[in-house]
Amino acid sequence: MPDASPNRCPVCQASLTAVFRSSSDQSLTSLCEIHEGRIDVSVCKRCGHIRSNALADLDQFYDTEYKILTGSVDEDQIYDKSGDRIVYRSDHQLAVLQERQTIDAGLKVLDYGCAKADMSRKLAANTEADIHLFDVSAQYLPFWQQLTEESRWAIYETPAEWAERFDLVMSFFAFEHIADPLSAIEHVASLMRVGGRLHIVVPDTFGNIADFVVADHVNHFTRSSLTLLLEKAGFADIEIDDQVHRGALVATATKTVSESAESELNQDLVDTTVSRTLELAKYWSGLDERIAQISASEGAHAIYGSGFYGAYIFTRLKYRDQVRCFLDQNPFQQGKQLFRKPVVAPSDLPADVSTLYIGLNPAIARRTMSASPLSNRSGLSFQFLDEG
Ligand SMILES: [Zn+2]
Repeated sequence: MPDASPNRCPVCQASLTAVFRSSSDQSLTSLCEIHEGRIDVSVCKRCGHIRSNALADLDQFYDTEYKILTGSVDEDQIYDKSGDRIVYRSDHQLAVLQERQTIDAGLKVLDYGCAKADMSRKLAANTEADIHLFDVSAQYLPFWQQLTEESRWAIYETPAEWAERFDLVMSFFAFEHIADPLSAIEHVASLMRVGGRLHIVVPDTFGNIADFVVADHVNHFTRSSLTLLLEKAGFADIEIDDQVHRGALVATATKTVSESAESELNQDLVDTTVSRTLELAKYWSGLDERIAQISASEGAHAIYGSGFYGAYIFTRLKYRDQVRCFLDQNPFQQGKQLFRKPVVAPSDLPADVSTLYIGLNPAIARRTMSASPLSNRSGLSFQFLDEG
């Protein structure tokens, strides 16, 4: 096992530099649950990797507590909305996967860190690939059983006969959770045949800045650190795209015979990454202060967005009792509760609400709200997270 010290970069082992400590001792997980503990973020000045302090017991957390979207098979997160058409995240991911990878009948595919195997289910419906599943929790078994048979899944460890077996390993939003990503990517490489293809998607903290303060995202990969990670595990032809999936890095690579083929680190890229990291740290440090300033004591309030940003605003508000509801366009969210407040469709905003906090990714918040019918409602004041 490589050194898993919190002060060492999990990609290159260099010493880390602390850049951020959250002001509240409550933080939020990616599932919008409150976690007791501060967020500490560090950056590696050698490879540009960004590291957060891990939850105290990460293994226990994923085995029992972490249940991503296990409500129903069809539950999914919105990726985008154009007009009345909602594009779900897994559909977008499938489109990108099929555009980048040739998936012929019988291709041996492993879905690494697959959770309830949404992507595998979509792939199975669209191709004749031979799909296998891996995760570090047994709680998704009911979903796996609907998809395939026991010889095609593994939990915690992979069987010896899976060595060098796979033509394609795909991994969607798993590596940001893994405390020792280098061991995990070496594990992935050991399961692939030479010439096999890797397709991995992780959050891009610069494209979706909430990622920076999510309690269970212990890694924030950057273009330079993800490249180095893949090179260390013997991958070549590495391509990283930060445009095709908003808020994410999509990396593709080919497994080679060499154990490791590290190229020179691009120092300019690393330096730019470090300064962007410092800007993000400054943004989050200033945000709590800004929410406190705009947190009005008068009138009825609502929060637009029941995802991470909306939940984050709620936990920072001084006057939580005045929040009537959360608004969300996602029909799977409507009817639920968040912090004991109802989640309703935007058109169901109660008439007496005078202040609407916009809990959306700042990159799309203003565009989304200017297209919303709520923008014409008189007497309603919008409070955005950015300074505007
Ligand atoms: Zn590093």
